[in-house]
Order: sequence, then C-alpha cells, then structure tokens
Amino acid sequence: MKTPNVEGATVGEPREWTGASSQSAELDIAPTCTMSLSWRAFESFDRGEWTATLRHELVHVEQFQAFGATDHGPAFKRRAEAVDALVRVRRFAEPKYTLTCEACGADVAYRYRECKLVRESSAYRSACCEAPLNCRTRQE
Ligand SMILES: [Zn+2]
Ligand SMILES: [Zn+2]
Repeated sequence: MKTPNVEGATVGEPREWTGASSQSAELDIAPTCTMSLSWRAFESFDRGEWTATLRHELVHVEQFQAFGATDHGPAFKRRAEAVDALVRVRRFAEPKYTLTCEACGADVAYRYRECKLVRESSAYRSACCEAPLNCRTRQE
C-alpha cells in the first residue's frame, strides 16, 4: 500500500484530523486510503492468503487513520497478530528488479530473481531508444 506519511506523524501518537493544522486543509480530515491489488497477486494467492493479506493492508489503513503514519514496527506486529493478519506480505506486485531505459526512463522489463539481464543490464539495449538498460533493485 502506498501511504504518504503525514509530516511529523508517528505511529502510537494519536492524530487529531480535525482542527487547526499547519499543513494543507486536506490533511485536516482522516484521509481516504486506497489499496491497489494486482491481478498477478489475485491469481496466485489462495483464499486464506488473500484474507491475511487484506487484513495486513487494513492494519495499515487503521494505523494511518489513527496516527497519520504507518509502518511495520512493534505496534503493527501486535495488531497484526491480534487480528490474524500477516505481518509480512508476499508481494507479487513488486518484482525484485526493474529494468529501465537509460535514455527515456521507461520500464523495459521486470525480473523476480537475478539473471543475466539483471547482472549485465548495461550490455542490453532498450527497444524504445536503443539505449543501455539500468537495473533498479526494489528496497525491502
Ligand atoms: Zn505492510
Ligand atoms: Zn527509451
């Protein structure tokens, strides 16, 4: 889930969404949270895994609406265990490696594990610009 943490907000510190805020007006109300779920994940998860994954995301929503911030810290872990959610989710939506075109920055390929394309990305040329490829590793 993509959640922009509110500046200065910390998990565990209740956030007052109404009232004077030095930040923009839209942060004065508890924000709507959007969950994006990929087809790839949809197809590869079984029902139990889905339930636990959705609960995990809902714990993030709950934290975010209460505190303006969310993470995978001790509070998250306690809450996840209490509601039978996964503490760590399996992410099919995010491949480990993204290969991009050095010239235009377009995503060229995704890889879930290391391979020749990942190791020697600059030896390959993109179809769009005939430019070398850059390999970006996803942050865990
Ligand atoms: Zn999470
Ligand atoms: Zn390009």
